[in-house]
Amino acid sequence: MPQLPIYLDNNATTPVDPGVLEAMLPYFREQFGNAASRQHAFGWTANESVEIAREQVAKLIGADPAEIIFTAGATESDNLALKGVFESYAGKGNHLITCVTEHKAVLDTCAHLEKLGAEITYLGVDHRGQIDLAALEAAIRPTTILIALMYANNETGTIFPVQAIGAIAKKHGVIFFSDATQAVGKIPVQVLPDEIDLLALSAHKIYGPKGVGALYVRRRNPRVKLIAQMDGGGQERGMRSGTLNVPGIVGLGKAADCCRLELEAEGQRLRKLRDRLEQSLLALDDVMVNGDTSDRLPQVSNLSFGQVEGKSLLLGFTKNIAVAAGSACTSASLAPSYVLKAMGLSDERAHASIRFSLGRFTTEEDIDYTIQAVTETVNNLRSLNLFV
Ligand SMILES: *Cc1c(COP(=O)(O)O)cnc(C)c1O
Repeated sequence: MPQLPIYLDNNATTPVDPGVLEAMLPYFREQFGNAASRQHAFGWTANESVEIAREQVAKLIGADPAEIIFTAGATESDNLALKGVFESYAGKGNHLITCVTEHKAVLDTCAHLEKLGAEITYLGVDHRGQIDLAALEAAIRPTTILIALMYANNETGTIFPVQAIGAIAKKHGVIFFSDATQAVGKIPVQVLPDEIDLLALSAHKIYGPKGVGALYVRRRNPRVKLIAQMDGGGQERGMRSGTLNVPGIVGLGKAADCCRLELEAEGQRLRKLRDRLEQSLLALDDVMVNGDTSDRLPQVSNLSFGQVEGKSLLLGFTKNIAVAAGSACTSASLAPSYVLKAMGLSDERAHASIRFSLGRFTTEEDIDYTIQAVTETVNNLRSLNLFV
C-alpha cells in the first residue's frame, strides 16, 4: 500500500527536494546578508552564493550566467519579457504573436498590452495542441517585435517545435520568447540550438521553493534590451530591482543542478511509469489522450474519459489521489479548460478530463494504486449508467 494521499499534480507544483531545502537553510540563519552589501562579509557571502546559483541555472539551459535575471517566479518572468519587449521595441512596432493555449501569465499580460495599443495574433492549435508553423510564419509583419510561444504546455505536456520556431524568428529578425516553465529540468532545453532569446522558468516546478524564478535574456546575436518593470535599487543589471531573495535563489540553483544531473535517467523512469498508467487506463475503452503523443513531456498524461461525468469521476478517487481536472473550478461556474477547448474537445469531454502529472517522488506503487482506483471508479460509474 502506498502512502496516501498520492500526489500526481506535479505540473501545478512540486515538493521541495530535501537536498534543496538543506542548501537553503543556512541563508535563513547565519548567512542572512544582503547580496548588495559590498562593505562586509555578510554581503560578500550572500553575493557569492547568488553568483553560484546563477551559474547553476545558466548551465541547465546552456546560457551564460550574465544572461540570467532572478525574479519572483515564472509569472513575473513572463510579465517582464512581454512588457519589457513591448516598451523597449516600441520604435520597431507593436505586433506580437502568441498562442491560445499559453499560460494565463502570458495571455493576461497580452490582454493588458492590447489595452496599451499592442496588436496581438493568437495562433490556434490542432487536436494535439500543436501550432501550424506556416501559420506562424504567415502572421509575421514588419511591425512584429515578439513571438511568445511556450516550450511545453502545462495541461497536456505537448512540446512545441521550438527549434523550428526559433529558426523562423531568427530568419525574420523577430525576438523569440519561450515560457519554458514546464520543460526546463524535465527535457533538454538549450537556448543556443533552440535559438531562444528570452526564456522563463520557475523554481517550484523543479523541486525548488515557491516565489523564485528566472528570466534568461540573450546578450549576443541579438542583444535583447528590456525595459525594467520594477524600478529601484538597480539589482539584476537594472532589469529587476529589489533585494535578492538569497535563500530562494540558492534553492533554485541547487534545484537546477539536481535536475541537470538526473534529467536523463529521471525522464526515462517517469516516461515508463506514465506510459504504464496511460496504457492501463486507455484499455478502459472510450478514453483518449489529450496532447501530442509523439512530442510530449515524459511525466504528463492528460486523459479524457467517455461515458462518465467529470464531477463524479473526480469524486470517485480524488480523496486519495491528487490530480488536476479539465475544468477550472476557481469561480462558481465550472468552466472547461480553455486549452482543451482550443484542441476541439466538447465541454462534456473537457470536464471529464484528468491531468496526471508524475514527479521525482512518484513510485511504482503510487501508479499501481492509481490505475486500480481510477479503473474501479470508471467501471462503477459506467455500470450505474448515470450518464445521459
Ligand atoms: C506554473 C507556470 C507558470 C507560473 O509560474 P509561477 O512561478 O507560479 O509564477 C507560468 N507558466 C507556466 C507554463 C507554468 O506552468
